[in-house]
Amino acid sequence: MPPASASAAPQLEPDGAPEAVPGLVEVVVGNGPPMALTYRLEGAAHVAPGTRVRVPLGKRRAVGYVVGPAAQAPEGKTLKAAHPMEESPAITAEVLALARRVADYYLCPLGAVLAAAVPPPAGSRPVAGLAVRMAALQVEAGAALEAAASIEARAPRQAEALRRLAAEGEIPAARLPAGTAARLAARGLVALRDEGRTRVPLGEHAATPRPAVRLTPAQEAALARVEGALSGARFETLLLHGVTGSGKTEVYLRAAERVVARGGQVLLLTPEIALASHLTLAARAHFGPKVALLHSALSDGERRDEWGRVRAQARGEDGVSVVVGTRSAVFAPLDRLGLIVVDEEHDGAYKQEESPRYHARDVALMRAQQLGVPVLLGSATPSLESFARAEEGRAVYLALPERIETRPLPTVAVVDLRETQPVHKGGVITAPLRDALAETLERGEQALLFLNRRGFAPIVLCPACGHTYRCRHCEVTLTFHRAARAFLCHFCGDRRPAADACDACGNPLLLPMGVGTEGLVDEVQALLPEARILRMDRDTTRAKDAHLNILAAVARGAANVLVGTQMIAKGHDLPGVTLVGVVCADQGVHVPDFRAAETAFALLTQVAGRAGRGDRPGRVVLQTFSPEHPAIRHAVTQDYAAFAAEELQVRRAVGYPPAGRVVRLVLWARDAGPLDAAGERLRAWVADRRPPGVEVLGPAPPALGRLRGMHRRHLLIKGAKVGPVRQVARWLLETAQTDPAFKHVRVDVDVDPQALV
Ligand code: ADP
Ligand code: ZN
Repeated sequence: MPPASASAAPQLEPDGAPEAVPGLVEVVVGNGPPMALTYRLEGAAHVAPGTRVRVPLGKRRAVGYVVGPAAQAPEGKTLKAAHPMEESPAITAEVLALARRVADYYLCPLGAVLAAAVPPPAGSRPVAGLAVRMAALQVEAGAALEAAASIEARAPRQAEALRRLAAEGEIPAARLPAGTAARLAARGLVALRDEGRTRVPLGEHAATPRPAVRLTPAQEAALARVEGALSGARFETLLLHGVTGSGKTEVYLRAAERVVARGGQVLLLTPEIALASHLTLAARAHFGPKVALLHSALSDGERRDEWGRVRAQARGEDGVSVVVGTRSAVFAPLDRLGLIVVDEEHDGAYKQEESPRYHARDVALMRAQQLGVPVLLGSATPSLESFARAEEGRAVYLALPERIETRPLPTVAVVDLRETQPVHKGGVITAPLRDALAETLERGEQALLFLNRRGFAPIVLCPACGHTYRCRHCEVTLTFHRAARAFLCHFCGDRRPAADACDACGNPLLLPMGVGTEGLVDEVQALLPEARILRMDRDTTRAKDAHLNILAAVARGAANVLVGTQMIAKGHDLPGVTLVGVVCADQGVHVPDFRAAETAFALLTQVAGRAGRGDRPGRVVLQTFSPEHPAIRHAVTQDYAAFAAEELQVRRAVGYPPAGRVVRLVLWARDAGPLDAAGERLRAWVADRRPPGVEVLGPAPPALGRLRGMHRRHLLIKGAKVGPVRQVARWLLETAQTDPAFKHVRVDVDVDPQALV
């Protein structure tokens, strides 16, 4: 959890700036050095902290953020000029204060936090000449990664930009180090285009009508307690633990109504875009155009407009009362924030897996504490951190123990895959699951089939010589995607055309092994020719609002089977679904990660919770090789309390969160030799100092010892208290910054890591 600082007031002035010199400012840059630099203001005598400025940085030009007045010019230096880009600051004083805390807590540069907090181009108003320039990869991801390797030594920034483009395809040029997009364009590797579309997100979708319901007694009680917190007008954490289908959303929206009625604003965070869209449409039914939606998949035009609308509000203009958004929306520039809601608070998607590696739920707690407002965390399967918080009395525990209209939770039948074979050889569906599917469709009801692996088959094997297709850049096999006729790496995005014959021996018959969602659709169709199947995974939801369209098709009965990855597991309310099939519950359970059981339990409980949300009772058929594993055993009974008690005991025994705290360092290098040498230096540092109260594990290869063409090692720094753990991480980072052994080694730091892959 974030550090509990005693001061509630945001610190607006930078530390130790007693004698600010007029016209001098401290500036941080998103992709620049970690410390603030001093510049001379050009074209204005004074600007407020949070204002964006154009600055020269070395040989490049960059967007910087003014973080305060500067005391003095460093001696003997002529200062370069900073040109303000806007009249009023893009970043409010409160968000700037929050960003400082986040940078400090997560051991990352303030510039990186601000760049993540404000969407490019960060305009408070669309400014002429500020159209968003997009950089799009013009070569195959694999070729891009090869090019990255060959220019790594001469042009590391361009190499890193290429790796990001290989993974994402297209990104705003402003998010790459200044000048790299243009240089890559000159090499013919990327194309640049300007994007200037502006419109309201989901504008073409109707708001979801919200029937006037009578709250259940449990909802009443929870809402009353939330209202108590609201009228207390101080920081308080409330944990709403409601089983799937218990009506948590209704509680969020009613609480939001109370805040808005008093002129306040509400931030509603969700872990995924699909849920954010859904919640936005529900909120619009009540708050109309006062709802803004912020997430990373909006077009830059939409994002700029939405953010601008929110920011306009912060200047006292009429506008937004409710912001719905994913992770980075936690930094939305609201200035009358009265409540933050974090839906599905347990979800790992709240953690950003690149710098700044912040957890949006924990940042929400920091922000609520800074502002002195309540925060409402909701989940059917609370994170053990939040649950422990409630147990220790640091959060108010609110329960919705029953489904709406006391509908029963679904019954769960277990199919032991050690005893029951799939119907088709090489397939994954057993007779009990097939029969359940057939009965469901016969009754005119609907089914969800959950398989957390996209593509046709995760392994391609040559049956003649045993050759398998592996990624050239990562330590994993390539997944066969049939429709795309490609072999894809799910980690780096590398893609090659599917081979017709074995690369190694020429045998013309390659064997796809294992099943992904694309293959599962075939299998279901072969077993049940009358089924109308839709698939929802990352491959079928690339188009704008595709996830909404798929769910709408299921809701109106156009499809009766929905096959999908974890995307189908969360939040959705599809009353026609009475059967959920979990094709392989073991996925994720045996991962070498202290959170594996918790994540698997939450996912299985969530997906089971999609069944029987309407008038007819639901059932779950869960196929597994390890029915005795605690995550699976407790998911079968949907017994959160039993799972939490057992898992907390394990965590206490080994000192992992929430019983202890962890910071992870990941070392990356092109060659293993320098990597091991660098790792040795850290090991030696630890052996010398033996910091008390802190344990350092590693360096050792993580599960993915090679990723995106780089070798990796990681260290886990563990201890009972986060302070000393972070202090040791700081010292190790300093060692890495000064030791020549780290010349070709990059070090990533992850405070409160969510996953250890
Ligand atoms: P959760 O988020 O807890 O899984 P939802 O908020 O999606 O559950 O609610 C499940 C369903 O119950 C939704 O269709 C919602 O409109 C409906 N609902 C919520 N509260 C009530 C109520 N008090 N009376 C009747 N229906 C309700
Ligand atoms: Zn790869």
